[in-house]
Amino acid sequence: MTIETPDQAAALPILSHWIGGTAVEVLPEHTGPIYNPATGHVIARVPRGGQAEVDAAVAAAAAAFPAWRDMPLIARSNIFFAYRNLVYEHREEMAALITRDHGKTFPDALAEVMRGLETVDFACGLPVHLAGMMTPNVSTKVDAFTMRAPLGVTAAITPFNFPVMVPMWIYPIAMMCGNTVVWKPSSHTPGASQLQAELWTKAGLPDGVFNVVYGGREAVKAIVEHADVRAIQFVGSTAVGRYVYEEGTRRGKRVGSYTSAKNAMVVLPDADMDLVADAAVAAGFGSAGERCMAQTLMVAVGDTGERLRPKVLERIARLKVGNGMEPGMDMGPIYTAEHRQSIIDWIGVGESEGAELVVDGRTFEGPNPDGFFLGVSLFDHVTEDMKIFQEEIFGPVFGIVHADTFDEAMRLVNGHKYANGTAIFTTNGGAARRFKLEVEVPMIGVNVPIPVPAGFMSFTGAKESAIGDLAMRGEDGIRFFTQQKMITERWPEPGKEGPLSLVFPGNA
Ligand code: NAD
Repeated sequence: MTIETPDQAAALPILSHWIGGTAVEVLPEHTGPIYNPATGHVIARVPRGGQAEVDAAVAAAAAAFPAWRDMPLIARSNIFFAYRNLVYEHREEMAALITRDHGKTFPDALAEVMRGLETVDFACGLPVHLAGMMTPNVSTKVDAFTMRAPLGVTAAITPFNFPVMVPMWIYPIAMMCGNTVVWKPSSHTPGASQLQAELWTKAGLPDGVFNVVYGGREAVKAIVEHADVRAIQFVGSTAVGRYVYEEGTRRGKRVGSYTSAKNAMVVLPDADMDLVADAAVAAGFGSAGERCMAQTLMVAVGDTGERLRPKVLERIARLKVGNGMEPGMDMGPIYTAEHRQSIIDWIGVGESEGAELVVDGRTFEGPNPDGFFLGVSLFDHVTEDMKIFQEEIFGPVFGIVHADTFDEAMRLVNGHKYANGTAIFTTNGGAARRFKLEVEVPMIGVNVPIPVPAGFMSFTGAKESAIGDLAMRGEDGIRFFTQQKMITERWPEPGKEGPLSLVFPGNA
C-alpha cells in the first residue's frame, strides 16, 4: 500500500461536497484517502464532512423543498427522464469510477449502473402511483379522499459495495415523491457520487433538491440527530443500521435500515448439477463476495455435496482474478487492505473450527503485490455451530453444508439469524412451492442464484437483515417516502348550511 507524503496528498484530486447545486471545496487536511484496490495507490481524496456540512446540506434541502413539492408532476418526471438518459450516456464513465474505487470488474460495475437505472426508470413513471382515492357522499354533501404528500428533507446513507445501484434504489423514489435529499455515500467508494450530482444539475434539477455530503460517523450522527430530517433509508451493516434506526426513530423520524446478510442456496438431488455449480461459483465469488445477496453457503441435500464438489473445483480453477479494468477478469481485489485481512482471519477461524479448507485463497499471488488481492476459498463440511456458518464474512469464501433431508435444509436456512436472500435448485415444482411458502427469507430464487428483484419491485430483508417495517423501492418505497393524508370535505349549497350541533358528526 502506498503511504503518501503531505505534498503528494495535496496534489491529488479532491472530491467536493455537493450542497445547494454547488461543489463545496475542502482543504486537503479535511480529507481522507481513496485507494484503488487493484494498485494499492491513493488516487484521490474524499472530504471528511461533519455537523457543519450536514447542517448546510439540510438547510439547502429544506429551502428547495416547497418549490420542488409544488412542481407539476410531469415537469418533475421530465427532469427524471433527462437524468436517466444522461446516466445511460455516462454509464461507462460511472462504471470505471466504481471499478477504480471498489475493485469489482468493469462489466460487473456496468451491470450495477444498469440495475440502478431500473429504479430511475420506475421513478420516471411514478406519478400514476401517487394517485389517491376519492369517495363521494361519505355523508350528506360530504366527500372524502386520500392523497400522498411528501415528507420534506430525507436522507440516504449507503454502503461501499454498490456505490451507484444502492443509492439509486433510494433517492429517485424519495425525490419523485416530492422530497429533497441529503445523501451520504461510503467514503471508501465515493468516486461516482459527484458525477451523479453533476448529472442531476445537467438534467435541470433545481438546486438543493439533491445534496451530497461525504464523511463517516460524525456526518451520520449529524443526519440522524438533525431535527429537519424527516426520514432516512440506511443500507450497510446491522450494527450501524440498528444505531441509525434506534436514534432516528427515537427522534420521530421514519427509518428503514437494510443490513447485513449470509445467504444460503439449497440444492436438492434432482437439480441440474452443472447449473448449480455455475450458480454457486457466480453467486459466491462475483464481486469478491462483497454483495449482500451473495450466496456464500450451499446447503447440499443427500449426496449433492459430493457430486457438486468436483464441479465447483473445476470452475474455481478457471477463474481469473486481477485488475477489474482488464478484460476477461472474473474477480477483482478486495476493497480495502483491512477488509482483506479480516477475510484472511475468517479463513483461519474456519480452519480452527474444523471445516475442511479445500481451496485456500490466502496463497493466491495477485498481479500487483501492492493491490488488495485475495484468491477464492472453498470450505467443505461446514456445520451450523461454526462461526463461518453464522457470521457474514463479505468476501470470496464459500462453504458447503451437508444436510440429510430437505427438512433439515429448511431448518438450517430458517434457523439463521440473517434473512436477506436464498435460493433453491430443483426440478421438482412441489419442492420449490414448499420452499417459497415455508422459507423465512423474503427474497427467494428458484433456480436463480441472486434473486435481486427488478428495479420496480421492492427490496427487503427480515430478522437481522432489515430493521423497520417497510421495504426499499417499489410500492413500499412510495409509502415510506410519503405521508398519506385523509381529507373529508363538505361544500354546502349557499343558503342551505345546517343548524349548529355539538353532536359527534355521523355519516348517515
Ligand atoms: P457500514 O455499515 O460500515 O457502512 C454503511 C454506511 O454507514 C456508510 O455510509 C458508512 O460511512 C457509515 N458508517 C460506517 N460506520 C459507521 C459508524 N460507526 N457510525 C455511523 N456511520 C457509520 O457498511 P459497509 O461496510 O459500507 O457495507 C457492507 C455491509 O452492508 C454488509 O454488512 C452488507 O451485507 C450490507 N449491505 C446490505 C444491503 C441490503 O440491502 N441489505 C445492501 C448492500 C450492503
